[in-house]
Amino acid sequence: MAKEHLGFIGVGRMGGPMARRLIEAGYQLTIYDTNEAAMAPLCALGASRAASAAQVASAAEAVFASLPTPEIVAAVAEAVTGGNRIKTFVDLSTTGPRMSAAIAVRLGEHRIVTLDCPVSGGVAGAEKGTLAVMVSGPRETLDALRAPLEVFGKVFYVGDRPGLAQTMKLVNNLLSVAALAITSEGIVMGVKAGLDPLLMTEVINAGSGRNSATQDKFPKAIIPRRFNSGFATGLAYKDVKLCLEEAEALGVPMVVGNAVRQLLGIAKAMHGGDSDFTSIVRPVEAWAGVEVKRK
Ligand code: NAD
Repeated sequence: MAKEHLGFIGVGRMGGPMARRLIEAGYQLTIYDTNEAAMAPLCALGASRAASAAQVASAAEAVFASLPTPEIVAAVAEAVTGGNRIKTFVDLSTTGPRMSAAIAVRLGEHRIVTLDCPVSGGVAGAEKGTLAVMVSGPRETLDALRAPLEVFGKVFYVGDRPGLAQTMKLVNNLLSVAALAITSEGIVMGVKAGLDPLLMTEVINAGSGRNSATQDKFPKAIIPRRFNSGFATGLAYKDVKLCLEEAEALGVPMVVGNAVRQLLGIAKAMHGGDSDFTSIVRPVEAWAGVEVKRK
């Protein structure tokens, strides 16, 4: 039996490989991205190119979106109300709980159900289908879309309230960036004292300090000086900012979280929002007068 026709808006670093996996799993896809070049490889695999978000929403009942900022997600959510087939809007972006809840209400006025569905695991996880897929929204909507969501990775249902999955995602990303920030300080200190950074990560990974930065970002992106984890400093900053705003609204003090935001903000000011978020090590290196690389 032919699989259903799906829509996909925003086929960038994350959306591109996720959309490719859907095509390879046998789904027909109608895609839209403001960047023509991002759509070309997917069209070569058989995806149909739409001229607008509304056109995607007139081609498919379920429309997935992987977009950079909450404001862009809100604008695209508004645009899909112009389509005549859409029944479900699946937001894979990190949008924040408030915007996500507001979008669910707005789309509800058009009888469109929102599935809040942020993901974690980076570009590598999107390519391999090993993402953590965090879902909140109506359970029956998740059940209906479980098969395509499982193409992306492991699906976790965290509750029916719109925005709850976003909160889950923001906590995850705060931890990921905090690990990168504190590991930057520790490894720079070791390098300045004369330790080899790769050996440091091997020791830490066999010990109690291991984290996603020692296991992944330092060996693969920072020590080889590639700065290519695939996650932009500007997007990481957006996530930490959203997390701190949410924590403040909930009355949860975040002393460490605020320090992480400041260091990320300095990296963004020095290297730009488009730089890779592993650039967070660079201000620490500049202050210490050393570079984290092999001798
Ligand atoms: P990206 O900038 O690479 O991709 C976003 C895509 O959206 C781009 O191709 C862009 O052209 C397109 N776009 C922008 N405005 C548009 C519009 N109005 N209509 C249609 N398309 C539009 O970003 P990304 O790294 O793929 O991240 C996407 C989302 O996923 C973000 O919310 C991010 O926080 C989240 N995320 C990223 C990662 C990562 O490691 N990169 C991991 C997990 C979650």
